[in-house]
Amino acid sequence: MKITPLGVWGAYPNANGATSAFLLEEQGFRCLIDCGSGVLSALQTHIALHELDALVITHYHPDHIADIGVLQHGLMIETLLNKRDRPLQVYAHPRGEEHFSQLQKNKYMKTTAVSPQQNQTIGPWNVSFRETEHPVYCLALKFTSENNESIAFTADTAWTSNLLPFIKGSRMLVSEASTYHSMIEQIPGHLSGRQAGQLAYETGVDRLLLTHFPHYGNINDLVSEAKEVFSGETELADPTKSYFIK
Ligand SMILES: [Zn+2]
Repeated sequence: MKITPLGVWGAYPNANGATSAFLLEEQGFRCLIDCGSGVLSALQTHIALHELDALVITHYHPDHIADIGVLQHGLMIETLLNKRDRPLQVYAHPRGEEHFSQLQKNKYMKTTAVSPQQNQTIGPWNVSFRETEHPVYCLALKFTSENNESIAFTADTAWTSNLLPFIKGSRMLVSEASTYHSMIEQIPGHLSGRQAGQLAYETGVDRLLLTHFPHYGNINDLVSEAKEVFSGETELADPTKSYFIK
């Protein structure tokens, strides 16, 4: 499994950056996780748009869905030019009715409703979902390969023990770290670097990748905070790198 951060900023992109998105690849299958602002541009530094097979959406906040409109335009143009012969498989929850029906109406997408009650087979993975603690309904994701290796994504969430049994057993945790621990009361619905470390420690993952960064302070402090509680490999998700789980 190859994971490439495309956008690592929370709320809005920094200069020449993008908000939340990861590209997950295995056995030639290519899945985008969230589609925030600047993501379509970032995606094309790695693959051509027509090579994208699926999109999974965690929730309908703009920093996770801002580029969906331009993605739909891209799919339409590539289909009209015969570069693309299939709809994009889109997996999203229906608890944001307006957004979900917009996805369903688009003929260049084939949208499947997801929920914590039912796992989905997406390309080579078994994907499971768990509700997070966020102002809008949001789903954490776990992708499990045929060889039983898993990677878990917190999506956006405040601290919740509900995620512990869900993440447990994963090799890698991709956790949001939206703020510094001293500011956690001011930023509801999100995790601090320290809390991301706590999640990694309590679930016994090997490796922690932090994402969804704040636009203030020194983001390297997020890693220091996480390392106060978690001794495994911990780093900021770096859009110039890809990470591998074998
Ligand atoms: Zn967000």
